[in-house]
Amino acid sequence: MLEIKNYMEDLVFAQLDEVVKDVGACGCEKCRMDIAAIALNSLKPHYVVTAKGRLYTKLNTLQQQFDVDVLSAITKAAMFVKMNPRHEQN
Ligand SMILES: [Zn+2]
Repeated sequence: MLEIKNYMEDLVFAQLDEVVKDVGACGCEKCRMDIAAIALNSLKPHYVVTAKGRLYTKLNTLQQQFDVDVLSAITKAAMFVKMNPRHEQN
């Protein structure tokens, strides 16, 4: 089975937790998902056709190409969500 997938999603989630920690943003699920959504909206999608077991090598090559843009997008998104959290306030 083949599927179409936005590879940027993998890159964003691979770096999300580290950036959240670095920026000091809230790590709850709502904030993390908001950060991922904002970052992904600001990045050009990169769709790939994937088959199980074949993804890994291809991703490594692409990753170096996109890492800097992705990191900067997540950082901006994390800083925005830190200032404007949408989680429930107690
Ligand atoms: Zn939160």
